Amino acid sequence: MTATTAGGLQWVTVLGATGSIGRSTLEVIALHPERYRVFALTGHRQIDLLARQCARFAPRQVVVADSAAVAQLRTALAALGVTHPIEIGCDRQALERAATDPQVDTVMAAIVGAAGLEPTLAAARAGKRILLANKEALVMAGEVFGAACSDGKAEVLPIDSEHNAVFQCLPPGGRVGLGVRRILLTASGGPFLRLTRAQMSTVTPEQACAHPNWSMGRKISVDSATMMNKGLELIEAHYLFGVAASSLEVLVHPQSIVHSLVEYDDGSMLAQLGNPDMRTPIAHALAHPQRIASGVEPLSLAKISTLSFEDPDLERFPCLRLALEVLGAGGRAPCMLNAANEIAVAAFLSGRIGFTAIDALNAEVLARIGQGAAGASIGAVLELDAEARALAEQLVMERGH
Ligand code: NDP
Ligand code: MG
Repeated sequence: MTATTAGGLQWVTVLGATGSIGRSTLEVIALHPERYRVFALTGHRQIDLLARQCARFAPRQVVVADSAAVAQLRTALAALGVTHPIEIGCDRQALERAATDPQVDTVMAAIVGAAGLEPTLAAARAGKRILLANKEALVMAGEVFGAACSDGKAEVLPIDSEHNAVFQCLPPGGRVGLGVRRILLTASGGPFLRLTRAQMSTVTPEQACAHPNWSMGRKISVDSATMMNKGLELIEAHYLFGVAASSLEVLVHPQSIVHSLVEYDDGSMLAQLGNPDMRTPIAHALAHPQRIASGVEPLSLAKISTLSFEDPDLERFPCLRLALEVLGAGGRAPCMLNAANEIAVAAFLSGRIGFTAIDALNAEVLARIGQGAAGASIGAVLELDAEARALAEQLVMERGH
């Protein structure tokens, strides 16, 4: 862990600054200029937004997708009258520098999908305080990431609202032990909670991305609709908190007010509640162990009046069943499932496959590649990821429109 967390100025790198989590992070940072300074911002394709963020937060470094995006950013910065020097990069090394520069205290890991793995790992090896939103990186490479954090003495604070809630309800240190009996991850059930499988087979990407409670990026929105998001979160919880699969459960809670619960041996259940707004977990992790304002409306339980809970339906949401199987199997299965799912979701979003083909494709990749030990190095993880992606792509070509 780095030196700043006792209350001095923190220098923050936001990986994925132009995304939903990245934008919320900058909103919280903007409320506390005396505590936080932006060291680096990274985006991919949303260059005009990134330019406006540069004008507002004056980062020293910026990373974008390629040299065309670099040129576009320079033009956009000039048009906005930004004159302070910014180092602009567009390759892996630039991304790694943004995550590891000695000036950086805290790295918000909010690139979506496997693309976030390498810079997040670099931040871990460099001993940064990592605010982890990018659950896919942990699912792909849980063991490699854990080892990198231990070696680098990095501190990881969960941003995913459920894991942040669990972290807040666990004993200090955030690891299971000390009389913890179960962890219950709540799930909204997404926009299709009450749909039959037949109804699900005709839904559109726009319907899948219209989450009833949360405003999020498109990939995680589709994952919420299939409930794969909850499956990935079970695997995430296993790695983050060192908790066995048998002590993890999913509880459907359509209002998204109780963000998760921890049950203790004495029968106590601790829960964290709040409005469904990611600025709360972001502010919690940025300031931990202190507390700061997040800009989120206070929760009025009287106005909400009813909180309901139910068991998940694994028949209508086979992605959740698959993830539970993968969590039990361990080894290379989580990495394969994550890779297959990224391809399947992208194919659904671009209209190449239907919604119910996502779980079928994931199941087929898992069945065809077979089990085995987890990749012990980043190279082995990336190889397995590539193998699963290639097979998933091939299946999309064969089965897709
Ligand atoms: P978004 O799609 O909104 O944002 C993704 C970010 O990653 C953008 O900044 C995007 O850049 C950047 N990006 C996309 N592809 C690449 C790439 N190949 N290389 C580098 N950068 C890339 O996603 P979210 O903010 O919704 O999610 C981010 C992560 O946080 C995910 O892992 C998600 O699971 C997790 N998470 C999100 C929650 C939420 O409420 N949104 C809740 C809990 C977890 P650009 O837009 O400029 O192209
Ligand atoms: Mg979540």
